[in-house]
Amino acid sequence: MKNLAVLGATGSIGDSTLSVCRHNPDLYNVQFLYAAKNVDKMLSLCMEFQPAYVALSDEGSSQQLQTLLQQNNLHSQVLPENEVLTLLASVEIDSVMAAIVGAAGLKTTLAAVYAGKEIFLANKESLVMSGALFIDAVKKYGATLWPVDSEHNAIFQSMSASLQKDIGACDLNGEGVSKILLTGSGGPFLNTPLSEFEFITPEAAIKHPNWSMGPKISIDSATMMNKGLEYIEARWLFNTNKEQLQVIIHPQSVIHSMVQYQDGSVISQMGNADMRIPIAHVMGGERRIKSGAKPFNFFASDNFTFFEPDYDRYPCLNLAIQACYQGQHATTTLNAANEVAVQAFLDKRIKFTEIAVVVEQVLNQLNTQTASTIAELLHIDKEAREHTIQVINRGLIC
Ligand code: NAD
Ligand code: MG
Repeated sequence: MKNLAVLGATGSIGDSTLSVCRHNPDLYNVQFLYAAKNVDKMLSLCMEFQPAYVALSDEGSSQQLQTLLQQNNLHSQVLPENEVLTLLASVEIDSVMAAIVGAAGLKTTLAAVYAGKEIFLANKESLVMSGALFIDAVKKYGATLWPVDSEHNAIFQSMSASLQKDIGACDLNGEGVSKILLTGSGGPFLNTPLSEFEFITPEAAIKHPNWSMGPKISIDSATMMNKGLEYIEARWLFNTNKEQLQVIIHPQSVIHSMVQYQDGSVISQMGNADMRIPIAHVMGGERRIKSGAKPFNFFASDNFTFFEPDYDRYPCLNLAIQACYQGQHATTTLNAANEVAVQAFLDKRIKFTEIAVVVEQVLNQLNTQTASTIAELLHIDKEAREHTIQVINRGLIC
């Protein structure tokens, strides 16, 4: 039985993770639950899972939770935020589900890496932000990294055991891989006329046709920035070069990505669009476990279709791919600018089409710095956020 920490426990991946725990009560002991401020949901999770430790990053919410736990005679210890990293590094935690959304997930994910833990990586933004430094730390501290993102998990499942063991440093050519094919549905606006894009509302953008996810990743899926972040994530996880990584639109979201080999074989992982499938894969480790997901029904499915992405429709995807080859400062800046722009769109302060315009402006204006430490990356992240806010506030979008 492994002791599990769920970071981002009240979110969409948190829900799916805890659902897999319910299906496998003998495999994981839910030891620590961490989230931002959803007190009611955390209370009900504490009632059900009785974790030894719990924390909310918002101080007021943390105090409320403490009171409610006492009133309900529950014994989970509420940790102050500054003790979270120490707990993650301690012997009380074996495995960490890193599922906080955005750059906010970097600190805790890295703490788990530095402590050599088993990490189930959902928080793609932490890898986009810190790339080579993250991968080097995984090697140096002997952490075990399992990709949770459905595409990366599919790629991982479609690889040989020797490539799987070498995550972060895969010798794709040596193992006969010619290409990694990263699939994406194209989101809710795949067939919307481009002339209507500037009128897209947050409510419409959040409704993904195939997946149920948190608000930020849902908007990223609509702009396909999500696929761009995943492109960068794949570049680091699987050590690809430009010729070895390609994005393919597959609107049905049944094939979750593919690996093409030099002999012409293509191996894919398929299934329903249910994050419990990749989560159960990583939590099962060497063996297959129950996920609670429905088996895929081939006779009730649409035809599978595939085509190349149109960058006029998805400028964010293009920006991310370009940033991937510009260097670490560019992907850190891209991630920060995107997070601020997506929030501004959700708050109805900018239009859907302005997300890409804002990100591009920030990238063009801030792309000269270098970064070789996490502290320098955090500085770039901070500057990029401040600059993005200025661009939005001053209405500098042109
Ligand atoms: P979500 O918005 O549903 O949940 C986010 C969680 O993070 C919540 O529990 C929230 O309380 C917590 N959180 C936010 N800021 C925090 C902070 N400062 N400190 C502690 N906790 C904080 O998001 P989600 O859809 O579950 O996505 C989580 C991560 O997983 C993202 O990085 C996303 O890209 C990735 N991911 C999600 C999916 C999916 O299907 N939802 C698929 C692949 C990857
Ligand atoms: Mg994904």
